[in-house]
Amino acid sequence: MAVSDFEYYERLGVERGASADEIRKGYRKMARAYHPDVNKASDAEERFKQVQEAYDVLKDDQKRQIYDRFGKAGLRQGPESGFGGFETGDMGDIFDAFFGSRPTRDTRAPQKGRDLQTNVTIDFMDAVHGVEHDVELSRMEVCEVCDGDGAAPNTEVTVCGVCQGSGQVRRAQRSIFGQFVNVSTCENCKGAGKVMRNPCTGCGGGGWQRKKRKLTLTLPAGIDEGNKLRFPGEGEAGQLGGPPGDVYVGVRVRAHKTLKREGAHIYSELTVDVTEAVLGTEAEVETVDGTHQLQIEPGTQPGAVVKLRSRGIPRIRRPDRGDHFVTVNVTVPGCLTGRQRQLFQELGHIHERSSGKKTFKDRMRDVLD
Ligand SMILES: [Zn+2]
Ligand SMILES: [Zn+2]
Repeated sequence: MAVSDFEYYERLGVERGASADEIRKGYRKMARAYHPDVNKASDAEERFKQVQEAYDVLKDDQKRQIYDRFGKAGLRQGPESGFGGFETGDMGDIFDAFFGSRPTRDTRAPQKGRDLQTNVTIDFMDAVHGVEHDVELSRMEVCEVCDGDGAAPNTEVTVCGVCQGSGQVRRAQRSIFGQFVNVSTCENCKGAGKVMRNPCTGCGGGGWQRKKRKLTLTLPAGIDEGNKLRFPGEGEAGQLGGPPGDVYVGVRVRAHKTLKREGAHIYSELTVDVTEAVLGTEAEVETVDGTHQLQIEPGTQPGAVVKLRSRGIPRIRRPDRGDHFVTVNVTVPGCLTGRQRQLFQELGHIHERSSGKKTFKDRMRDVLD
């Protein structure tokens, strides 16, 4: 005989056929709305308790089935009822609703070790060509003496009598919301779930040792300022058989005196004098591969850019390289010898004649003649 009792569903604002997820969401929404810290209405606390009571039943498959069939009455008499009033089973649900995460976690499950973070500063050319770089890390490792067990070798380890091996102690607590079960780490075994008569001398019983380790990191050619590299499995040891953490390395690159870098491209400047720019020349330029003889074509303009294809920086994990761009600066002599002045003047006359233009000076001369 089915009893039509929807009240618990209504309290959470969900349909009778709601999924576990919908029930959970409904609970969070209602619990927020009626939380006495938020809602100052006189019946808020009472409504909050009702929401909690409904959720305690609907989140539990077994209790929900009984409720669906027999209503609240069924729960009072049910096979493992014990449901004589209001009790919140798990403190974590309250925390989930208001703080978004659980304050306690299962410390008995294998856990990945902590990640470590370090920074390295390398020379410009080492970043271009790649380098092996040593870093020293201080990390927790599994104790070599006891292999993480915590007990001195060949000594007895017994299950903790206080927590029966769970590592956690549950204690009922009263508060304005009703009764909570407060879960805390067992003090007797410090959460390990076991006690030993003779703790390992290597680690004092914790199963851990802090070790300084020198790691040789291979930094690939083409690495750049601000890159972050991950070295898997080089972090701290995992717990209870979990995998070790990773090491993250932030890269800083020292500036070069003459070469500038943008991504895979190199930029530099070359200064030639005016006759070299006019007549063309050959000049030595520094590249990431060493010095390079650069051909300056006759008639090169100030600010002209010469591209050295594939003379830039290797792209990480790709076969190609960037380019090297050389900007040509042209210097104009500031003070001239008499002979130089004469030559430039001749040059000027030739230029005027060939271009067929009359300068201001020529026109003055025409007038004066
Ligand atoms: Zn040890
Ligand atoms: Zn214990």
